[in-house]
Amino acid sequence: LSPVPSDIEISRGQTPKAVDVLAKEIGLLADEIEIYGKSKAKVRLSVLERLKDQADGKYVLVAGITPTPLGEGKSTVTIGLVQALTAHLNVNSFACLRQPSQGPTFGVKGGAAGGGYAQVIPMEEFNLHLTGDIHAITAANNLLAAAIDTRILHENTQTDKALYNRLVPLVNGVREFSEIQLARLKKLGINKTDPSTLTEEEVSKFARLDIDPSTITWQRVLDTNDRFLRKITIGQGNAEKGYYRQAQFDIAVASEIMAVLALTDSLADMKARLGRMVVASDKSGQPVTADDLGVTGALTVLMKDAIKPNLMQTLEGTPVFVHAGPFANIAHGNSSVLADKIALKLVGEEGFVVTEAGFGADIGMEKFFNIKCRASGLVPNVVVLVATVRALKMHGGGPSVSAHTKFHYVKTELNGCCNLQKQIQITQLFGVPVVVALNVFKTDTRAEIDLVCELAKRAGAFDAVPCYHWSVGGKGSVDLARAVREAASKRSRFQFLYDVQVPIVDKIRTIAQAVYGAKDIELSPEAQAKIDRYTQQGFGNLPICMAKTHLSLSHQPDKKGVPRDFILPISDVRASIGAGFIYPLVGTMSTMPGLPTRPCFYDIDLDTETEQVKGLF
Ligand code: ADP
Repeated sequence: LSPVPSDIEISRGQTPKAVDVLAKEIGLLADEIEIYGKSKAKVRLSVLERLKDQADGKYVLVAGITPTPLGEGKSTVTIGLVQALTAHLNVNSFACLRQPSQGPTFGVKGGAAGGGYAQVIPMEEFNLHLTGDIHAITAANNLLAAAIDTRILHENTQTDKALYNRLVPLVNGVREFSEIQLARLKKLGINKTDPSTLTEEEVSKFARLDIDPSTITWQRVLDTNDRFLRKITIGQGNAEKGYYRQAQFDIAVASEIMAVLALTDSLADMKARLGRMVVASDKSGQPVTADDLGVTGALTVLMKDAIKPNLMQTLEGTPVFVHAGPFANIAHGNSSVLADKIALKLVGEEGFVVTEAGFGADIGMEKFFNIKCRASGLVPNVVVLVATVRALKMHGGGPSVSAHTKFHYVKTELNGCCNLQKQIQITQLFGVPVVVALNVFKTDTRAEIDLVCELAKRAGAFDAVPCYHWSVGGKGSVDLARAVREAASKRSRFQFLYDVQVPIVDKIRTIAQAVYGAKDIELSPEAQAKIDRYTQQGFGNLPICMAKTHLSLSHQPDKKGVPRDFILPISDVRASIGAGFIYPLVGTMSTMPGLPTRPCFYDIDLDTETEQVKGLF
């Protein structure tokens, strides 16, 4: 239709096929799915075992240039591309997307189900609770947070013996260690399995974690942009008097448990990763883990359904996995390894799996390669780099688009193409062919479209094509689908940017210089101390997950285009040992976004007669 109706009107205009019909179409067996409502299902991991001898399909990553605050259409391109491949070129394909956080949905950006005629439907189910995975993550995260502070309180208020007796449960009248407790004893060098044989010294060693409260890195989380929780004081109730400390809430999608969900490849691996998560150090400087707190089993129980990818469909009835949704600026920004692995089997050797990495290629794509591909062992065949004329105008000196001036642009010269050229070069560092997808808006002129495509090819892109999926659906991206298919027939020379064995500082410097274009990095004393501590604790050989603004290649959101000669400040460094990365904070990065003066929630409403959601976009 012209003009294109709102996203939610388009979504509602199409009745999705029943999810069991979709599952059957793509080769899933009836007992491999668990249906949630009419149009969503969880897919059991047993399918991986059944299809283990099936060759994988081609693996395509959609990344982007440095975006405006509204996003340049990576989700939309991802969906348009699979619609084009499957519904128009008859090639099996799967889109693997992140589950959106309710922070942006009710904040600035709106939903993330794509848009126009390239959407996942029903979009309100996609954008709101889906099947509850983020709630499960929040529950697990906060259980662990509660376990830490409560343990400190109890250790301080009880004798060693009383604490020990409460920690080692009575089973049929006899004290018995749990599996996790046996592992902890081993770690402490106590090679005993019978609780009645422990000496007094061993009892107190076992009973006390001796957590140093000043080293606690585990925060509480919530999936709401609530700036007033960025710094809080906990423990002000009468019963906890004397145990108050400063703490904070992070947004749930920045939680390490979200990263674990995104990077794990089986239930056993998830359990092991959850157990390894480091939450603090003890008073002698040793790391304290979820295993030490005895909470791993409970966390795994809370996460047992979240680990199964969620099956949905595009507007044109092609399959989509929505699974895990870490933010790309403060987490690693990629959907789950498991969804990609299952999809690669289901599409077959000739098929395509298209997944998306958050924000610009400098952010989500760098982490896709160096963190996600390292964890999964999968080799990508093609990168699709999404650009828009509106963002390039911004990089050329035009205004950054705000929520109010959405879709109205001031004409500026297209000298912002430098950002696109730089992002193409970044992609080339990894040896994967890049196809530029110019996501066309109705305000773009022919001359602008031709110029961007020409400059992209000159910068080394395998191809550059305009896409019209937003206004017409999959048929508007058939040229992109053909270009991607051709690029995928070339051999991928994929390589990592750095060797994980080099020191943490060198890895950070390599990303800063080779990817962001920084002159050098500058570590705060706190960052240096953390690096020393993590190295000494044996965590020096993990990949790096930079927490940096997505609005610039540099650390300053207002520096557009290709900033030069800047020194990248590393203000702090954290470690996500269960997820498996070291996590430097660049400049002042908040791990809890705030709401603007006029958030999206103003437009969101429910028609109580029809139960229809209004105002989501
Ligand atoms: P990203 O994934 O890069 O953050 P999205 O695909 O979510 O971006 O798109 C951001 C917003 O822009 C969505 O609301 C989408 O509907 C809108 N949008 C994307 N492409 C177009 C287009 N070609 N014309 C108009 N609006 C678009």
